Amino acid sequence: MRVDLFHTGGPKGETVAFDRAVDDGPWAGSRTRLLDETNLGSHFVEVRDLKTNRVVFSRGYSSLFSEWEQTEEAKRASRTFPESLRLPWPRDKVRVVLERRDKANVFHELFSAVVDPAGPESNPAPRAPMGKVWTVFENGPAAAKLDLLILGEGYAEKDLPKFHADVKRLVEILFTYEPFKSRKADFNVRALDLPALESGVLRPDSRIFRRTPLSVQYGIFGSERYMLTYDDRALREAASAAPYDFLEILVNDARYGGGGIYNFQATASVDTGFAEYVFVHEFGHHFAGLADEYYGSDVAYETGGEKPEPWEPNVTALKDPKALKWADLVEKGTPLPTPWEKDAFEKENRGVHVQVERRKLIAQGASPAALDDLFRRQMSEETKLLSSMAWSGKTGAFEGAAYEAKGLYRPSADCIMFTRDAVGFCPVCRRAIGRVIDEYSRP
Ligand SMILES: [Zn+2]
Repeated sequence: MRVDLFHTGGPKGETVAFDRAVDDGPWAGSRTRLLDETNLGSHFVEVRDLKTNRVVFSRGYSSLFSEWEQTEEAKRASRTFPESLRLPWPRDKVRVVLERRDKANVFHELFSAVVDPAGPESNPAPRAPMGKVWTVFENGPAAAKLDLLILGEGYAEKDLPKFHADVKRLVEILFTYEPFKSRKADFNVRALDLPALESGVLRPDSRIFRRTPLSVQYGIFGSERYMLTYDDRALREAASAAPYDFLEILVNDARYGGGGIYNFQATASVDTGFAEYVFVHEFGHHFAGLADEYYGSDVAYETGGEKPEPWEPNVTALKDPKALKWADLVEKGTPLPTPWEKDAFEKENRGVHVQVERRKLIAQGASPAALDDLFRRQMSEETKLLSSMAWSGKTGAFEGAAYEAKGLYRPSADCIMFTRDAVGFCPVCRRAIGRVIDEYSRP
């Protein structure tokens, strides 16, 4: 079952409204492990049996609303985001409770509704598939495996052979990264052909206009390379053609771009020099709730202010070094916070200079390849610096993470969640991913 909601808010507060409950295609999750104990996500949904009040299903996820809330726009305007909750079709009436985190990251109830699976609000009829599903590889029944669905966006009918090649290339790359590499047997991967009228997606700052099946676009929250869809309903209707636990949308475009939200959506443009990096990095957000470990870059969110301990597994406020959530991965004798060449990194790199140069190039109408070259220069300088420091390659607590130069710490000097360097996931990120694989791959 999929419960479709509208999540609305602005200066006057926040409301969630029930829209409808519909069939959401085959259930890919476990039929016995129905409670989510990972504590990931900005939101948490609990489904309770109406008669006994027993929790029969729960799941964490992050919403576009909770990201938008942190933008400047949210202070002066209201907006609505379609959102949805996916759960096994209930046998009887249930109460669906949606919780959100407060400033201290503690969950509180935000919305609740009674859903009667036999009532007029529920429609169990299946939807005609919007596209053709094909199997990349399959290792077992959906309930016992992690089911990943790759959707193609901005591929015209004539581009479908290219979509198939892009899927194979990027999925192959994902499974060269640990821990995906050694856990490949726990996954099924399927893909969905969704032909569009023309190639490419909406890219407002280039005056490129498209209406594509999933409405994926560049320029989310005004950030030129932030690429997602605001249209959750279009995404879910398309994805319901296949059983899936997680998904990623491949976007047929040459401009660098992507986005990833935990247990909601992830995107990557396929024709940039960094497509492979973006595909894996954004999947890290979507799959394991990993935070960006970088800071000093151009993002849509407002930063600064007092920070509670983040719920993301790979960032800490380090209020009590003895209680560090990844302490067991830190070698004895490693100082916390862990010293690194922060000044040199910030001076040499640059995040800021690169952004200024990038904006200049875009304004001049530079090619996507010229923009990629700029990132490539940044990458080679950063790799050199971050790999040659006293605590390089060690786990500790390095200041500068999650868009904050101060007060938040990341577990390693370098990681695919920090830079575009070819370093893979740090040990803390690897473990967080491994835990999600464990959750979903047990029957
Ligand atoms: Zn990491």
